[in-house]
Formats: sequence, structure tokens, C-alpha cells
Amino acid sequence: MTTAFFSHDDCAKHNMGAEHPECPERLSAIISYLGDTELMGTLDWIKPEEITRDQLLSVHPDRYVQQLDMMQPTHGRIFTDPDTAMMPDTLRAARLAAGANVQAVDMVMSGQVTNAFVCARPPGHHAERSKSMGFCFYNNIALAAMRALNFHGLERVAIVDFDVHQGNGTVDIVQGDERILMCSSFQHPFYPHSHVYRQADNIINTPIEANTSAVEYRKRVEADWLHRLQDFRPQLVLVSAGFDGHRLDPMAELNLEAEDYRWLTDLLTSVAADHANDRLVSTLEGGYHLKGLAESVAAHLEGLASIR
Ligand SMILES: [Zn+2]
Repeated sequence: MTTAFFSHDDCAKHNMGAEHPECPERLSAIISYLGDTELMGTLDWIKPEEITRDQLLSVHPDRYVQQLDMMQPTHGRIFTDPDTAMMPDTLRAARLAAGANVQAVDMVMSGQVTNAFVCARPPGHHAERSKSMGFCFYNNIALAAMRALNFHGLERVAIVDFDVHQGNGTVDIVQGDERILMCSSFQHPFYPHSHVYRQADNIINTPIEANTSAVEYRKRVEADWLHRLQDFRPQLVLVSAGFDGHRLDPMAELNLEAEDYRWLTDLLTSVAADHANDRLVSTLEGGYHLKGLAESVAAHLEGLASIR
């Protein structure tokens, strides 16, 4: 088993302001934590390149891509929604994060690595086809899915989103696309307050009430997802890995800990082992308590790299 770890220093140049929770320190906290673990020598460290314009157009309309290009300021910041700001380094970071997802799919599909984790920002799962929101500009995981389906010719791809917020952007893009099964757990009722009841057959929603215990969370997820994933037989497992369901996270009220993210990872790698020749690509979404985030990502990576 080889696990690729994608990261690029320029993803830390996107900075939405001193008090903003989606901050550059999220990446440095993860990387410095990994430095003290055996993961450091185990992972295959890769520096991504920017996604191409054609690749972006597999998910986002040309008009939207152009609009973002035109909005990016040459100095200072502008807000595209109340939570999401652009500054001169934003789109470079976003294109690197998206590019890493596409390259991760390519490497896993070619067998160069078994699976991959993209440690980049800005995140992507709130970005709809034509709308940036919730700290997101390009939908990284949907771009990964389209690469697998349209370029590599896969017929069935699973997207699993365990961020504490519902991935409204991913739902917007993939609902009704029978080549994709999306399984998603999220605190409910909660941000972004959309796409929960708009049911397409390929979207499995697992809403979780605030303060639900980790034991109950595990039960709900396993009951809702496992048989659907096994029946679907995905040829690739994609993961929107948000760690803001952590007990310590300041943005939400779930009670997960690093060991629960390890449990989730083991569930997903077992599905990938059964149907996808172990192929799995995971991408960082949320997670705002720096220590909780770093410990949870390490637990996730230990699962991907099969370290007990
Ligand atoms: Zn989130």
C-alpha cells in the first residue's frame, strides 16, 4: 500500500483574514503534527500543479469560471458571500487544490499509488456549479469524480462526505447522475440549510442531530451507507473528508474524535478493497480546531496507509 499526500505551500497564501476559521494554519498544523509520526516517512509527498481550464469546465460553466477570474482583486479582499473572501492568491490556491484532486485520481487510476489524500485549501464541497459559498470556489471532489468518469472511463464512482456540514455543492452537481452514489452525513438542522429534502436516488443523506454520541453516529452511518455502497460496487471511492464533526470543533456540535475518523476510514477502505482494487482519493474539506484537525487527519492517514 502506498498513500500519496498532496500539498503545496501556495495553498497557505490564500488568507481570508485574521479571525477567519478557514485559515492557512490549518495546513501547517496538520503537516507539523505528521512530522512527529511514522507517517512522515511512509507517505509519498507530491506537489500538485494547477488544474487546467478545460478540467474546471467538466463541472463549472465557462461563465462562472470567468466571473471568478474577473472578481479576484489585485490587492485587498472582496467577499463573494458573507463567509467567503477572495484575495490576490485565492484562485492560485483553489486551482492547486482542484488540480491535486485530478492528479490524485490519475495516480490512483494508473496504480502509481494505492490511495491519496489531498491536504489543500480552499475546500470545495459547498461550491455549486455556478456559485461559490461556504469558503469554497471550485468543487474539488466533483472535479475528481468527473476526471474518473469522463477521462478514465469508470462507470461507477462513490463520493462519501463526512464533513459536519452538508456538501450542498456536490449534491447540486451530482444529483441524478446515476454513475455516482453520494453518501453524506452532516449535522442537521444546520448550515447550509439546503438540499436536505431534495432527494435524488443517488444521494444518501444521513442527517445527525446536534450532540449525538459518536457510538450513535457510527450506527447511523453504517446502517445507511454500507449496504448501499456494497450494492453499488464503486470502482473508485472519493471522500470529502471534513473533520469539523470533532468534539472540540468550534463550528459544530457533534462528538467525533480521531478514533471515529479512523473507524470511518476503515469502513471506506474496506469498500474500496472489495470493489475498487483499493482505489480511494480523499480530500480535505472542513475542520477548524487545529489540534483536533491534525490528530484526526493523522488517524485518517494511518487508516489509508494501513498503519495499526
Ligand atoms: Zn464543514
